[in-house]
Amino acid sequence: MQCRRFGGGTMNRFPARIRHNTFNECSPMKIHEYQARDLLRNGGVPVPGGDMVTTIDGVTQTAKRLFDEGASIVVVKAQVHAGGRGKAGFVKVVSSVEAATDAASFMLGNAMVSPQTPPEGLTVTQLLVAEGVDIERELYVAITTDRMRRTNTLIASAEGGVEIEQVAHARPEAILTVPMHPLDGLRPFQATDLAFKLGLKGKQVRQFTTICLRLAKVFLESDASLAELNPLVITPPSEGYPDGQVVAIDAKFNFDDNAMYRQKAIAACFDPTAEDPNELRANEVGLSFVALEGNIGCLVNGAGLAMSTMDIIKLHGGEPANFLDVGGDASQEAVTEAFRIILGEPDCKGVLVNIFGGIMQCDRIAHAIVAAAEEVGFTVPLVVRLEGTNVEAARAVLAEAAQRLPTMQAATDIEDAAAKVCAAVL
Ligand code: GDP
Ligand code: MN
Repeated sequence: MQCRRFGGGTMNRFPARIRHNTFNECSPMKIHEYQARDLLRNGGVPVPGGDMVTTIDGVTQTAKRLFDEGASIVVVKAQVHAGGRGKAGFVKVVSSVEAATDAASFMLGNAMVSPQTPPEGLTVTQLLVAEGVDIERELYVAITTDRMRRTNTLIASAEGGVEIEQVAHARPEAILTVPMHPLDGLRPFQATDLAFKLGLKGKQVRQFTTICLRLAKVFLESDASLAELNPLVITPPSEGYPDGQVVAIDAKFNFDDNAMYRQKAIAACFDPTAEDPNELRANEVGLSFVALEGNIGCLVNGAGLAMSTMDIIKLHGGEPANFLDVGGDASQEAVTEAFRIILGEPDCKGVLVNIFGGIMQCDRIAHAIVAAAEEVGFTVPLVVRLEGTNVEAARAVLAEAAQRLPTMQAATDIEDAAAKVCAAVL
């Protein structure tokens, strides 16, 4: 998998807040749990039935139908692109239609905050209402790419559920990994061996093995970068399943963006309401935007320059509000849109433009600065450092427009630029 935004490979050098946005594989294509459940079901992995609904009425009706069909419990789950829902109170197991309706009114329209969401949380507009299951054991099973080993890898733990992060942190030996052969994929004996290591018994072993093999097939065929079942549960013994049934009751999938051209069904699952609106706007014109928590908007070209720009801002006591990477060949219109996005951020108290023009022509940036000044106006300090291709022409453009850019200061180099913008916003 290649990271489009950063060219890949440099992820671990990023500050944690950026990794949160990017390592999550650089905002990979994500789908909701209800969509992931469909994908699994179509791939032959047992998943309880249910429906996605967007209204309280819809929850009431679906819960009623599930109870009428014989469910003894129903689960109401927020559909947002973040985990930690159980602990945040956004997964509710209920045993009456009334309780399902109550859970829906608690969740719908409200923001869910968990360690995996931004601080302000994610607003819940979609709910999954599904048949609930009784749980005897919760396992963790996932497939992802191990970049060190350069293979897809099956990961499992006997201690699945909402504490898996703590388990992985405190007792890494409780997480088992099974590298998958690059050509042959997951082999049946590997999955069976894993079943025994997880302590599965009797008919559970065959069920588990089949699920792992089918999960591996779905993973490959859908160009996934992550397929996670947490928990994969074992139900108590029942008539049809004397050793219990192995069922997936949560599913998280990420996909390789670059494969979406051949994954139409998955691409169609894209939910723009789950994305940061500014990141979407930027993506539409071919730019990369990452929102951060500070107050200095950064317009740069190239991820490496973006990283060093942010480092040097921090070194001077400032905090970046975002970084907007205009890349190498953005049009003037795209760069103007970049300024609209940056200036539209209420927290933005200053803007630093740091361009080292190689392919990008500095005069294009200068024209975009002037266009943004005319259209939106720079009421906040603007510090501009331009270097490289067509820099003389760019300086001429800016000099001519100087009157329309009263808050602009020119900087001689990156150090000077960072010092000036930090002084201006403090
Ligand atoms: P997450 O917290 O966002 O990962 O949401 P999950 O779907 O994994 O649900 C969190 C926890 O809720 C699970 O680990 C289970 O313990 C519990 N849970 C979810 N669905 C059911 C269900 O159908 N029956 C029971 N008994 N518990 C459930
Ligand atoms: Mn889960």
